[in-house]
Amino acid sequence: MSTALPTTLSGLSYVNPSPSSPWGTYLSQVDRVIPYLGPLARWAETLKHPKRTLIVDVPIEMDDGTVRHFEGFRVQHNLSRGPGKGGVRYHPAVTLEEVMALAAWMTVKNAAVNLPYGGAKGGIRVDPKQLSMKELEKLTRRYTSEIGIIIGPQQDIPAPDVNTNAQIMAWMMDTYSMNVGATATGVVTGKPIHLGGSLGRVKATGRGVFVTGREAARRLGLKLDGARVAVQGFGNVGSAAAELFAGAGAKIVAVQDHTGTIFNPKGFDMHDLMATLHAEGGVGGFKGGERIDPEAFWDVDCDILIPAALEGQITPERANRLKAKLVLEGANGPTLPEADDVLADRGVLVVPDVICNAGGVTVSYFEWVQDFSSFFWTEDEINVRLDKIMVDALRKIWDTADRLKISLRTATFAVACERILMARQERGLYP
Ligand code: GLU
Repeated sequence: MSTALPTTLSGLSYVNPSPSSPWGTYLSQVDRVIPYLGPLARWAETLKHPKRTLIVDVPIEMDDGTVRHFEGFRVQHNLSRGPGKGGVRYHPAVTLEEVMALAAWMTVKNAAVNLPYGGAKGGIRVDPKQLSMKELEKLTRRYTSEIGIIIGPQQDIPAPDVNTNAQIMAWMMDTYSMNVGATATGVVTGKPIHLGGSLGRVKATGRGVFVTGREAARRLGLKLDGARVAVQGFGNVGSAAAELFAGAGAKIVAVQDHTGTIFNPKGFDMHDLMATLHAEGGVGGFKGGERIDPEAFWDVDCDILIPAALEGQITPERANRLKAKLVLEGANGPTLPEADDVLADRGVLVVPDVICNAGGVTVSYFEWVQDFSSFFWTEDEINVRLDKIMVDALRKIWDTADRLKISLRTATFAVACERILMARQERGLYP
């Protein structure tokens, strides 16, 4: 007779996750920071337990009259420093375990840039490209209603993530507002500008990747003018970052997205590339470069690599092959822990997700503040404040890494976890 406790939720291992899964990756990142937490290590176990997880059934009537059920999630990983904050992802591979990891990374990210938030994330297991606009709206509204018991401007504030956008945020804001009986713009961020959205929000994540990349390149003595950049994922994050690097004189030599992988050692014409992206919804058909095998993306000669797609992309094997001196994590969780070690051994510098892509949530914070005061800032004001927050946060992290002789990832966790666990300790355990 087996006495083993059940260790699965939603079909995936939770207590003993595989080390290469997102939650397993996150847990091993926490283990690496514990030796640097001093007396606060007493509270570190809290980081390994999501505070609240919600699984919801999202039934909708499809255009053909059939009814389909989708699985939705909202995880509030930690609320010690403030309301939950983090995006909502629509993807066929979404699982509870993945959303747990993404929520946990939000806790760390928000603390790393000192935003007054905890960390949360949501998702629906769905391929939104298979849905009509009407079906997408029904799915979004029903999901919002179902998670309505735990979200709110002071409780937990969703935002866009993979495959979600300003239109979806408008539907979420409207649904929540209808349910509470008053327009509540502060319940989500990443909204359309005329519905309480913020200027600069769409490109903010890519801008943060650029700003942290520029600072890291300066410290490495790597000139952006003429630097060769490869980008995986050409959505909101990858495309905005690529445009800014190209504007600083860098050459975008390879791009990979769900439609294909393209390569041009001389650098793409960014104007033409963006036109193809907008016209075709992807870069695979771009004529200004050679189409290459997706796996060959990792062998491309480049100085800077920007993974800006999904988790688990830089495996130890790819880490051994890639040519870049600098990796900028636009995506959440793109590097496996063993791959981190390979990169460190090879002298490749990694600016980790939890600081590199924090520009998005930073401008989400600006949006939330603007909604509360109903007073809106100029795009210039937003970009100047964003740059300052990112540069100051990275400087503190870099100093910590130098002082403790640890990686930038562990240093970011050290700075963030100290803030999170200090709040935990000061608030005390209830009851
Ligand atoms: N989804 C983004 C992230 O992973 C932004 C979250 C937000 O703005 O709340 O950081």
